[in-house]
Amino acid sequence: MKYHLRPQTAAHDYAAELNPEQYAAVTTTARHALVIAGAGSGKTRTLTYRVAWLLEQGVPPWRILLLTFTNKAAREMLERVGQLTHVAPGALWGGTFHSIANRLLRRYAEHLGYRPGFTIFDSDDQRALMRSLVKKHHGKAAKNDRFPKGELILSLHSLAVNTGRSWQEVLESDYRHLARYEDTLEAIYRDYTARKLELNAMDFDDLLCNLLRLLQERADIRQELQERFSHILVDEYQDTNLPQEQIISLLAGAGSSLMAVGDDAQSIYSWRGADVKHILEFAQHYPQAEVFRITTNYRSVPAILNISNAAIALNTCQISKELQPARESNRILPAVIPAPDNRIEARFVAQRIDELMAGGIPGREIAVLYRAHYHSTDVQMELARNHIPYRITSGLRFFEQAHVKDVVAFLRLLSNPGDELAFRRIVSTFPRVGEATAGKMWASWSACVLPHLQQHAPSAQLMQPHSEVLAKAAVPAAVRPHWTAFLSLMDSLHPADKNLLPSELVATVHAYLEPYLRATYENYDEREDDLHQLARTVGDEENLDSFLAQVALLSEVDHSASPADEDSVTLSTIHQAKGLEWKVVFLIFLGEGLFPHRRALEGGDPSDMEEEVRLFYVALTRAQDQLYLSFPRYNGRSYDSQFCPPSRFLRALPSELMELWEL
Ligand code: ATP
Ligand code: MG
Repeated sequence: MKYHLRPQTAAHDYAAELNPEQYAAVTTTARHALVIAGAGSGKTRTLTYRVAWLLEQGVPPWRILLLTFTNKAAREMLERVGQLTHVAPGALWGGTFHSIANRLLRRYAEHLGYRPGFTIFDSDDQRALMRSLVKKHHGKAAKNDRFPKGELILSLHSLAVNTGRSWQEVLESDYRHLARYEDTLEAIYRDYTARKLELNAMDFDDLLCNLLRLLQERADIRQELQERFSHILVDEYQDTNLPQEQIISLLAGAGSSLMAVGDDAQSIYSWRGADVKHILEFAQHYPQAEVFRITTNYRSVPAILNISNAAIALNTCQISKELQPARESNRILPAVIPAPDNRIEARFVAQRIDELMAGGIPGREIAVLYRAHYHSTDVQMELARNHIPYRITSGLRFFEQAHVKDVVAFLRLLSNPGDELAFRRIVSTFPRVGEATAGKMWASWSACVLPHLQQHAPSAQLMQPHSEVLAKAAVPAAVRPHWTAFLSLMDSLHPADKNLLPSELVATVHAYLEPYLRATYENYDEREDDLHQLARTVGDEENLDSFLAQVALLSEVDHSASPADEDSVTLSTIHQAKGLEWKVVFLIFLGEGLFPHRRALEGGDPSDMEEEVRLFYVALTRAQDQLYLSFPRYNGRSYDSQFCPPSRFLRALPSELMELWEL
């Protein structure tokens, strides 16, 4: 193999393209360096220029290891390096921790007992394997017992890996309600590990652990890699977790140089095992480290910077890093928009985006950010209604989430008893109903219901006279209690004698499904929020059918939006927006209990509240030119509607920094 020892880099005028602090960091000769500075101060820019600089100094690209947090950030960073240096992105070792671990393990996994060409399990694979193990170990042990589903068992394990604890410790601290299953879990985890090895497969967490294990256990390989990577650079260092920090520490252990950049005020992943002390204690860990600070912000206009500085000052224990603006004012103050309710808020956002786009701002320069995924429900519906293309950078579209689909399936069946897919989805929530049983049950159901559909307009009223017949349908004995409960639920939702609003339908189905949802999905609490929001979004919509049509339409928009991706507005949780920037940012659902999140308020742990403040700071600092802060005074209009005072964050900011917009 041939390497460019002196790649053709367009020589840069580093001193002109960087400020003195950035320049000093880029050209440092210190072996260990930390750049710690506030948002938008050019930390990522510094790291990219540092790579260009190293290449110009003759460091071969394959000796540089560049690590960052999200795939999107990694891609963007490698592109920026490409533009700066003309070095092919593949020549460097750059990417997320997981992608780098994969690349290394491709070469070394045999030393850990894997055969060449291991496969990576995606979450579907993991779930399938876990499901079979639950069946094997728990099986028919206790009828109707709600043993945790595979997904939940997997997420417990994942939390353990990412915090460097044993699963038993995590069971004790975070999943105490599963303690009675400890022995079965033990057997399942043991089998899970063995089975993966047998299948020559690694899941996502294995990539991290196996790389760590390799570095810890194999001195020869550790040394080989230490010699290989002469320069290690890490972005977003404040969000590294323990195994990641250990990997870096081992790789940089011998003679390599290490540059970490980050901002402790943007540490927002502690719930996933990230530990801010890794950045705060960097200088202790690497005693010779040179520390650089940048005090200028290049991203935002002064008005946005002022509000951001005021926001982070709410954390009294945060290291103060007040930034000075580099940009001129555009004479637009951040707007605060109290909306009467969630739908009017969404309508405002869609209308304003429409105006901005008509005024020449492309959709890709606009983002709608929120604290929790479910906050985007109404905005998704409203954007679709206005034919504004959008993309969701993280997670599924609201209505594509499994638990939302579960509940919507009941609404669909109610509106159209001939909806076989909805029916099958529903009965597969019963324990031990597979394809075959579902097929038999559908045959009984359709024999009863379908003939009538041909004669009358579809209506749930059809079902009631037939529940007696249906109750006798040929369902396996084990399933019968669930079948009966399901039939009586459908009867109770029957619209003829009860005038249930769609929001009440959702609530009833939710209550019915709760035990299933709780046992099936991880973080039920968050999913519960989604279902409450679903009820609020259907609200008192007169017509269930038109609501369901809109839901179906949303998936349609998904596909038509993809070719014009460039012009799509971004919808993202704040967590997924880190490191990124947009000309215009909308931050929605800024109500007390929504953001800061109810759980941080009620939990009473001050460190949770501090993380909420940091998250707020991350959100505000994504904006370059315009910032809109909105909240619904009422979330929901009928059932379960919530009165929302404005977020304490809004109330704590000096009012002269913002402009109040009355709708
Ligand atoms: P975050 O904390 O959000 O990750 P950051 O500190 O990594 O932010 P960058 O994304 O590197 O900041 O920079 C923010 C913006 O400011 C970018 O558009 C970048 O190009 C610009 N910028 C940074 N430094 C300079 C500079 N010296 N001159 C001109 N523009 C700059
Ligand atoms: Mg950055």
